[in-house]
Amino acid sequence: MGAAGVNLHPLASAVGASSRSVTQAETSTSGAGIFLDQVGYLPAGAKQATVRLAGASQRDFLVRSSADHSVVFNGKLGPASADAASGDQTSVADFSALRAAGRYQIEMAGLTSDPIIVAPDAYASALRLTMHGFTGQRCGCAVDLGGGYRHAACHLKAAYHRTSGREGSIANHGGWHDAGDYGRYVVNSGISTGTLLWAWELYPSALRGLSLAIPESGGKLPDYLAEIRWNLEWMLQMQDADGGVWHKQTSERFCAFIMPQDDKLTSYVIGTGSAPYKSTGATADLASVMAIAARCYGPYDAAFAQRCLAAARQAWSWAVAHPDVQFENPSGVSTGGYGDRQLSDELAWASAELWRTTGEDQYEKAFFANVPEGFNFAIGAPGWGDVASMAFWTYAFADRKGNSGFKKTIEGATATAAAALIERSRQNGYGNTMELRDYVWGSNSVAGNQSLLLLMAYHFHPDNAAREAALNNLHYMVGRNCLGVSWVTQLGVRPFQHPHHRPSAADGIAAPWPGLLSGGPNAHGGDAVADKLPKQPPMRMWLDDQRAYSMNEIAINWNAPLVFLLAAANS
Ligand SMILES: [Zn+2]
Repeated sequence: MGAAGVNLHPLASAVGASSRSVTQAETSTSGAGIFLDQVGYLPAGAKQATVRLAGASQRDFLVRSSADHSVVFNGKLGPASADAASGDQTSVADFSALRAAGRYQIEMAGLTSDPIIVAPDAYASALRLTMHGFTGQRCGCAVDLGGGYRHAACHLKAAYHRTSGREGSIANHGGWHDAGDYGRYVVNSGISTGTLLWAWELYPSALRGLSLAIPESGGKLPDYLAEIRWNLEWMLQMQDADGGVWHKQTSERFCAFIMPQDDKLTSYVIGTGSAPYKSTGATADLASVMAIAARCYGPYDAAFAQRCLAAARQAWSWAVAHPDVQFENPSGVSTGGYGDRQLSDELAWASAELWRTTGEDQYEKAFFANVPEGFNFAIGAPGWGDVASMAFWTYAFADRKGNSGFKKTIEGATATAAAALIERSRQNGYGNTMELRDYVWGSNSVAGNQSLLLLMAYHFHPDNAAREAALNNLHYMVGRNCLGVSWVTQLGVRPFQHPHHRPSAADGIAAPWPGLLSGGPNAHGGDAVADKLPKQPPMRMWLDDQRAYSMNEIAINWNAPLVFLLAAANS
């Protein structure tokens, strides 16, 4: 670890990343400690730390200014309770009443917390950093994020796979690398870009002026939309002439841990193996995303918006004609599958977005044809394979008349789901909204998408408890957890160091690429390292180990809800 932390992304120092990295082994994970958001807090927002006291009986804590060491707040811990997710005895130190911007530390029982930053722009750099996470995933071009984080143009050549019913090469490059691998998958691109474009529609004040220093900066698009367009352009290339959309473009197997430009495996457009070769999931997801894009890009680039809408309509027609073409990896292909057996939610989402964009009856009728019977449903946090909530929310948000009773039903179901999450946040020792069964592969994205649900509820009925519970998951991800780790690279005091991410492993730089969210704790194993980890409470089932892909990979669909949450925090 000798050189760890020497190379840092230019934004990293601005958000408090230490010039010295602290490995997980150096961090006390079971003794007494004070755990809080290592990025900061908003002046008017709730501010809570979790205190784990190893036997000490002291209940008083104080907050001291780092500038002049004066005591600015005295408080008493809340009651101690047993936290099932971590196995810890925890208490909450609530210092919400401290509203003055500044830099502080909590002291009690011989413990001193990490620095606490209270500032109106506490999350501004974090938002830029996590969007740089996407820029770093760009495929098909040279990338240079500064700080040595660069790669040459990659994966410029592509060919049709035998499962596509075609032969020969195809000029198809671009998009974002999906995760720790260099594959590109339309279904996962769909939920990721859809989430990011929703953030654009909901949080314009946070995103319109966002400066990302990307090659397109200074052009006609705001930087945020320009970054997303890089992936949208690749998605558009994945649409075949008949409107159907190829499921994925990857090599047949994952390459070694090498830089992207050194990956010489053929990048294939892979089909389902038999007619019609394209998949319903990819096609419907493209229809959804392009319908949203038509709304977002219209004011800046009418021609591109028209292209997006035309692609969405064409994809929709194909999906209606082929409503149940599922994708499974063909033999000889072992990259990500993103296969989905339930496709009515994808169709519902596409029809709802198309209706919201165009107002045409045909799409509203199709939406109601695909919603669960009797409107008897529960709203849940979305994910790549379950976009039903996205369908419902976009219907409810549409600036169109629609079925007002159904809109109310959606709002009510969302409020009910949000209330359960708020209650869970109050019960959990570390304040997040997850229940024990949520500690799965990619659990940090579960937390992120639960925040998305809470923020939807907040938009329907502005209730600060929903917004604070959403932010509690942010606090959890960047330090208020039983391991005291920030699960975002180069963010906070103790960011994790060893993502399952090929460029981070192969670039010769100790610190990983910036702005990437770890999958987080996973109680169920799934790789050789995770499977050997002794069984502990679920929040402890995590290792900062590059090999542990079921615990420590990164992925665009995990970063996207984090950006959404940070956009909300910045508006
Ligand atoms: Zn590439």
